[in-house]
Amino acid sequence: FNVPAPVNEPVKAYAPGSSERKELQAALKEARSQQVNVPMYIGSDEVRTGNTQTMSPPHDHQHVLGHFHEGDASHVEQAINAALGAKHAWENLAWEQRAAIFLKAADLLAGPYRAKINAATMLGQSKNAMQAEIDAACEFIDFLRFNVQYMTEIYAQQPPVSGNGVWNRLEQRPLEGFVFALTPFNFTAIAGNLPTSAAMMGNTIVWKPAYTQIYSANVLMQVFKEAGVPDGVINLIYVDGPTAGDIIFKHPDFAGIHFTGSTGVFQHIWKTIGTNIHQYKAYPRIVGETGGKDFVIAHKSAIPKAVAVGLSRGAFEFQGQKCSAASRAYVPSNIWDEVKEGLVADLADMKMGGTEDFTNFINAVIDEKSFDKIAKYIDNAKANPAVEIIAGGNYDKSKGYFIEPTVIVTQDPMYTTMCEEIFGPVLTIYVYDAERFEEALELVDQTSPYALTGAIFSQDRYAVELATIKLKNAAGNFYINDKPTGAVVGQQPFGGARASGTNDKAGSMINLLRWVSPRTIKETF
Ligand code: GLU
Repeated sequence: FNVPAPVNEPVKAYAPGSSERKELQAALKEARSQQVNVPMYIGSDEVRTGNTQTMSPPHDHQHVLGHFHEGDASHVEQAINAALGAKHAWENLAWEQRAAIFLKAADLLAGPYRAKINAATMLGQSKNAMQAEIDAACEFIDFLRFNVQYMTEIYAQQPPVSGNGVWNRLEQRPLEGFVFALTPFNFTAIAGNLPTSAAMMGNTIVWKPAYTQIYSANVLMQVFKEAGVPDGVINLIYVDGPTAGDIIFKHPDFAGIHFTGSTGVFQHIWKTIGTNIHQYKAYPRIVGETGGKDFVIAHKSAIPKAVAVGLSRGAFEFQGQKCSAASRAYVPSNIWDEVKEGLVADLADMKMGGTEDFTNFINAVIDEKSFDKIAKYIDNAKANPAVEIIAGGNYDKSKGYFIEPTVIVTQDPMYTTMCEEIFGPVLTIYVYDAERFEEALELVDQTSPYALTGAIFSQDRYAVELATIKLKNAAGNFYINDKPTGAVVGQQPFGGARASGTNDKAGSMINLLRWVSPRTIKETF
């Protein structure tokens, strides 16, 4: 099949005075000066219930970006019916037609919608221009283009062997029923990928985003419509979790969930599905990426500067609100002083403030609930004489939900912030005896229930090899001499196991295969 091999979308730099920066600034200005009125999208309808909630930038919570219309149980039913109603036509559409729609969506994001989706992500989720660019533009464009490539490979797979008088075939059917996409605030790309990857394979979708991402989800929906996604194929609803779950997980046509979010919610969903298992036509597909407590371990041979940069970037980009963010580090005593110096100097250079000032690296955390939770961890550390805060520690929510990048140093490798997921700009460091590398590796493996990402910094190949073996199950994405964030579609398929998810690698053929149910056909002549 003649689909051009995808190439990763080049990341634009937004340098001062560049045309892309001017365009983005214009989009930000326009978005700030209007108030959008965001409906739910169910079938061909834009649904405005009148039950509205305000959307504001996390870094400027008094400013109103607009309102969205919240729905109730009846809208969940309507969205399911719209998805089921659209199913027959969509699954019978030649896959090349489906591919064309998603390739067009990628082109729209790369061109006319780039500034708009980046501006929406900067304002709605408080990402700086670079973090928005690598997420809402590049990563989502890559998800779409690479997934189309994997889709063509799936449909073009070599058929099973046939013999004289026998013709064997394998048909890749979509799942029977509808797929539920439950998406997070922290990546616009993930919010877009979860519904589209399943839709690409012929499924129809009920999509419920995090309320804090609705502002950019609305722009994604405009892109899908303009690209030609037919009515009812992707239905976007804003309904609280328990109300939506109560209907969706009891529905006989519930065919699968594509999830990114917290471990607790995912486990609750899994149990609910288990309880209701006899009600479904088929065993639902359960695909989820959940929490992380991602590690960085340095060996005594590591270059201190590289470790410091790995930590400052890996822990604090997007305020640490990446499932992949470095949040616990194990640094050997021989290089600690230099690592500390480098890290503290890096953090001192990171300006904090709103996203419209492009010199700010640190922006706000997503909402008040997150802010309060993170602040509590910091307060507990301040009150504990056994730990030391070597950077940051201040926070202020008067204008926006700002928390300084905070580094805690502990002598207890099981201290709370070494073990629990915080999902904010807090890094905890344990300094270990440089001669006890193996023991430190054991700690990395056993300290947390999660296994999403992790990194080893070392110039010693034996140490790299030892870490690779000992930490085999401690991370689904393992980085050698690099920070543990920033997986690129097509280069580092992303996902983790243990309490971090089902490891169905976002942006890979593994993931797309979860959204089909193959039928084997044997015909004898
Ligand atoms: N894929 C992202 C990364 O590698 C993280 C995704 C997430 O936070 O869920 O940084």
